[in-house]
Amino acid sequence: MIRLSQIRKSFGRNEVLKGIDLAVEKGEVVAILGPSGSGKTTLLRCINYLERPSDGEIAIGDLRVPCRHPSKQDIHRLRGKTAMVFQQYNLFKHKTALENVMEGLVVVQKVPKDEARRRSAELLEKVGLGQKLDAYPSQLSGGQQQRVGIARALALNPEVILFDEPTSALDPELVGEVLAVIRKIAKEGITMIIVTHEMGFAQDVASRVVFMDQGAIVEEGSPKELFRSPKEERTRQFLQRIT
Ligand code: ADP
Repeated sequence: MIRLSQIRKSFGRNEVLKGIDLAVEKGEVVAILGPSGSGKTTLLRCINYLERPSDGEIAIGDLRVPCRHPSKQDIHRLRGKTAMVFQQYNLFKHKTALENVMEGLVVVQKVPKDEARRRSAELLEKVGLGQKLDAYPSQLSGGQQQRVGIARALALNPEVILFDEPTSALDPELVGEVLAVIRKIAKEGITMIIVTHEMGFAQDVASRVVFMDQGAIVEEGSPKELFRSPKEERTRQFLQRIT
C-alpha cells in the first residue's frame, strides 16, 4: 500500500537519506529503529512532505508522487492520506481536547460541526479521555496530551499513521499509557509506521522492524528475526548497546 523508492534527502551537503526503499502492506505496523542521527525522523517526515525529499518516489495506494517534480496537488493528496503523531504533541494550546481533535475534520475535511464533535468525542473516549473533552492542553499530563494527538490522527481516518517517537518527551511513568493506546489501535488493523526507542514495545507491537544507520536501511525483518538473530554486525552492536 505504501512504497518508498530510492528516497534521498540532503540538508546542504549532508545527505541524510541515501536511497531508501521500503514497502508497507495495508494493516502492517512497521517500527523503525536506529541510532540517533540515522535519519529515522527525516524519513518519516518525507512520507507526508513535512520534509521535501530530494529524489525518489512515494506511492500510497494509487497515488504516485515523483519527489523531484511533485505537483501541489500531489502533495496535498499525499497529506490527505497520512496523519502524524509528533514527539511534542503539537496541540493547539488555546483549544480544548475536543476542539483539537475536531479541527482537522472541520477545517480540512469539511465535516459538519455536529458530526465532527460526535466523532471526536468517541475517539477521545477510545483513548481513555472521555472525561477530558473540555480540558485545555495545559490541564493535561504529557501522556494525556499525546493521547489527544493520537485521537486527532485517528479522526482523519488516514491510510497510514506516522508516529515520530511518540513517547520520547514523556516522563517514564507516562510512557505505558501511551503505548497501551497505540497497541490497542494497532490491533484494529490500522497501518502504522513508528519511529521509536522503545525496544520492548517494538518487539511486541510491530509486524516488522526496520533498522536504519547513517541514512540507509541496514536490515529489516520480523521482530523475532531482528532482535534474536540480527544478520548484520551494525544491528547487533546497536541492540547490544541499548538492551
Ligand atoms: P534520527 O531521527 O534517526 O535521530 P534525524 O532524521 O533527526 O535522525 O536526523 C538525521 C540527520 O539529519 C542528522 O544529522 C540531523 O542533524 C540532520 N537534520 C535533520 N533535520 C535537519 C534540518 N532541518 N536541517 C539540517 N539538518 C537536519
